[in-house]
Amino acid sequence: MTLDEAWRILQEKQFKRTKNRDTILQFFSENDRYLTALEVKNFMEEDNPGISFDTIYRNLSTFSDLGILEETDLNGDRHFRMQCDPGVHHHHFICTACGKTRSISHCPMEMITVNLPDYEVEGHKFEIYGKCPLCVAK
Ligand SMILES: [Zn+2]
Ligand SMILES: [Zn+2]
Ligand SMILES: [Zn+2]
Repeated sequence: MTLDEAWRILQEKQFKRTKNRDTILQFFSENDRYLTALEVKNFMEEDNPGISFDTIYRNLSTFSDLGILEETDLNGDRHFRMQCDPGVHHHHFICTACGKTRSISHCPMEMITVNLPDYEVEGHKFEIYGKCPLCVAK
């Protein structure tokens, strides 16, 4: 997702263009990987010392609810990244060394639901972890 697409969604939902939101989205658009709120905070403190985790988490949750950011738990911490494939159901390979992700459009659920004929499935999570080609080569 580009910054323009993100702002179009925010403006459709009547969110104002604030400097904090601008800075956060800028940071995500420049980093093609999962980031923690702490990384966002460290980046924002250059311009805005004393910005609180509350403010950051509130914005990250808004972006995540609107589908601008994708969210996952890694090592017990919430991680966020820019939506990499808007509107398309996909999963991720996540590099455990550099945090870069690769979108996978194949969903294994079609195979799995065959084994759950009498169940009502409400959701699923599927992630693959390992080293990306660049980190393997190091
Ligand atoms: Zn994605
Ligand atoms: Zn890597
Ligand atoms: Zn899926």
